[in-house]
Amino acid sequence: MTVSNCIKCEGTVFEAVEVTIEGVDRALFAIQCTGCGGVVSVVEKHDSASMIHQQNRALIFVGQQFGMKLGLDTE
Ligand SMILES: [Zn+2]
Repeated sequence: MTVSNCIKCEGTVFEAVEVTIEGVDRALFAIQCTGCGGVVSVVEKHDSASMIHQQNRALIFVGQQFGMKLGLDTE
Protein backbone atom coordinates (compact mmCIF):
# COMPACT_ATOMS: atom_id res chain seq x y z
CA MET A 1 0.00 0.00 0.00
CA THR A 2 1.23 3.48 -0.83
CA VAL A 3 1.74 5.87 2.09
CA SER A 4 0.29 9.37 1.72
CA ASN A 5 2.91 12.09 1.94
CA CYS A 6 3.09 15.87 2.06
CA ILE A 7 3.98 17.41 -1.31
CA LYS A 8 6.05 20.10 0.41
CA CYS A 9 8.26 18.17 2.89
CA GLU A 10 7.30 14.55 2.16
CA GLY A 11 6.10 14.10 5.77
CA THR A 12 3.73 11.18 6.31
CA VAL A 13 1.88 12.28 9.46
CA PHE A 14 -1.15 14.55 9.25
CA GLU A 15 -3.51 16.23 11.70
CA ALA A 16 -6.93 17.88 11.62
CA VAL A 17 -6.96 21.49 12.81
CA GLU A 18 -10.10 23.62 13.00
CA VAL A 19 -9.83 26.55 10.60
CA THR A 20 -11.82 29.63 9.77
CA ILE A 21 -12.13 30.54 6.13
CA GLU A 22 -13.32 34.05 5.40
CA GLY A 23 -16.78 34.04 3.87
CA VAL A 24 -17.55 30.46 4.95
CA ASP A 25 -19.87 30.05 7.95
CA ARG A 26 -19.45 26.26 8.45
CA ALA A 27 -17.06 24.59 10.87
CA LEU A 28 -14.12 23.19 8.92
CA PHE A 29 -10.98 21.19 9.57
CA ALA A 30 -7.75 21.66 7.65
CA ILE A 31 -5.94 18.36 7.17
CA GLN A 32 -2.35 19.42 7.46
CA CYS A 33 1.13 17.95 7.64
CA THR A 34 2.38 17.82 11.22
CA GLY A 35 5.92 18.48 10.00
CA CYS A 36 5.49 21.70 8.03
CA GLY A 37 1.83 22.67 8.37
CA GLY A 38 1.20 22.30 4.66
CA VAL A 39 -2.56 21.93 4.09
CA VAL A 40 -3.52 18.94 1.99
CA SER A 41 -7.29 19.16 2.34
CA VAL A 42 -10.18 20.91 4.05
CA VAL A 43 -13.16 18.90 5.30
CA GLU A 44 -16.41 19.64 7.09
CA LYS A 45 -16.13 19.37 10.88
CA HIS A 46 -19.57 17.76 11.06
CA ASP A 47 -19.83 14.72 8.83
CA SER A 48 -23.28 14.95 7.22
CA ALA A 49 -23.56 11.18 6.62
CA SER A 50 -22.92 10.41 10.30
CA MET A 51 -25.47 13.02 11.35
CA ILE A 52 -28.11 11.45 9.06
CA HIS A 53 -27.39 7.97 10.49
CA GLN A 54 -27.74 9.32 14.05
CA GLN A 55 -31.02 10.99 13.12
CA ASN A 56 -32.29 7.74 11.55
CA ARG A 57 -31.43 5.76 14.70
CA ALA A 58 -33.29 8.34 16.80
CA LEU A 59 -36.35 8.06 14.53
CA ILE A 60 -36.31 4.26 14.80
CA PHE A 61 -36.06 4.52 18.61
CA VAL A 62 -38.97 6.98 18.86
CA GLY A 63 -41.03 4.81 16.52
CA GLN A 64 -40.37 1.75 18.70
CA GLN A 65 -41.64 3.63 21.77
CA PHE A 66 -44.97 4.14 20.00
CA GLY A 67 -45.08 0.76 18.24
CA MET A 68 -44.54 2.41 14.88
CA LYS A 69 -41.98 1.73 12.19
CA LEU A 70 -40.12 4.95 11.51
CA GLY A 71 -36.76 5.58 9.86
CA LEU A 72 -35.01 3.87 7.01
CA ASP A 73 -34.03 0.18 6.92
CA THR A 74 -30.32 0.81 6.86
CA GLU A 75 -29.24 -1.00 9.99
ZN1 LIG B 1 4.94 18.78 5.16
